[in-house]
Amino acid sequence: MKRAKIVIIGSGPAGYTSAIYAARADMEPVLFEGYFSGPAGGQLMTTTDVENYPGFPSGVTGPELMDNFRKQALRFGTTILTEDVEEVDFSRHPYLIKGKTHQYHADSVIIATGATAKRLDIQGTRDGEFWQRGVTACAVCDGAMPLFRNKDLYLIGGGDTAMEEALFLTKFASKVYIVHRRDQLRASKIMQDRALAHSKIKVLWNSEIVNVKGDDVVRSVSIFNNKTNQTTEHEAAGVFFAVGHTPNTEFLKGQISLHDNGYIKVQPGTCQTNVDLVFAAGDVQDHVYRQAITAAGMGCMAALEAERALSAKGL
Ligand SMILES: Cc1cc2nc3c(=O)[nH]c(=O)nc-3n(C[C@H](O)[C@H](O)[C@H](O)COP(=O)(O)OP(=O)(O)OC[C@H]3O[C@@H](n4cnc5c(N)ncnc54)[C@H](O)[C@@H]3O)c2cc1C
Repeated sequence: MKRAKIVIIGSGPAGYTSAIYAARADMEPVLFEGYFSGPAGGQLMTTTDVENYPGFPSGVTGPELMDNFRKQALRFGTTILTEDVEEVDFSRHPYLIKGKTHQYHADSVIIATGATAKRLDIQGTRDGEFWQRGVTACAVCDGAMPLFRNKDLYLIGGGDTAMEEALFLTKFASKVYIVHRRDQLRASKIMQDRALAHSKIKVLWNSEIVNVKGDDVVRSVSIFNNKTNQTTEHEAAGVFFAVGHTPNTEFLKGQISLHDNGYIKVQPGTCQTNVDLVFAAGDVQDHVYRQAITAAGMGCMAALEAERALSAKGL
């Protein structure tokens, strides 16, 4: 069995940043970048333009940005393995990390497996249809794009995050329609009140988007009203999913403390989990900010915390 000072699980902004810092601290990191779990490079591999990552005044595509992260991690000597971690054993130190073909005993571990934005299977919204051509799952990331400005936008969801995202979109849209299949929202009263009081927001109750149409980009949506059984056509420039995220923590169950919603618990202000020398960075522990820059920042924190903790133990 091979031994590593540090094993990093995940290859989004958090994982690669951890690797850059750990490699530069001579920790010789081993990084499992995933395979079946999703594209190596993480969520940004599914988007086109990233306009808010500092250092790129003209923007950069998600895949190009992540390719640069990966190259930088490799440049300082990270060992990258293209496979998923299927199992961990944190009950005994050094910790066991198991992929299909590679297994390691690790002195420290950084979990940076991210989260997956949920999408509904609606005609016209799938990959190869209008996904990323007007259909997205991140209002904060994409809302300011020119194609959404002064246009009617449709947002699917009913929780607090959906209300927040709808309010955010009012900065750009002519009108934001919250499409909700029931006759009441799940969001807290205070968030509902804020959203419903906004002159640019309207809730379409008992409603479901059933089709998204367009040419190069989204032009219209078909909405089914499940009370009246009628379907109506509406002009639209954007469809935003705000139906939650699933943190990629299934393989950790029973090994580490998770919140009820599946996100990893960390000590406030740090990346330290409840297991000594095991850290969590990025969207896998953060359901609040969920941005590339915050994930990268946490990746840096986790690597620095790991390096200091290992030094303190003489490892
Ligand atoms: C459509 C879209 C557009 C976005 N646009 C922007 C934007 O413009 N600006 C911005 O700042 N943010 C944007 N975001 C959010 C941003 O992508 C995330 O906040 C960021 O990628 C989180 O980084 P992360 O490293 O925590 O995890 P992720 O990017 O989710 O990466 C996690 C990686 O871990 C891998 N993995 C999972 N499980 C395992 C396992 N068991 N073993 C090995 N590997 C595993 C996954 O395959 C994945 O590659 C966008 C998100 C989406 C969905």
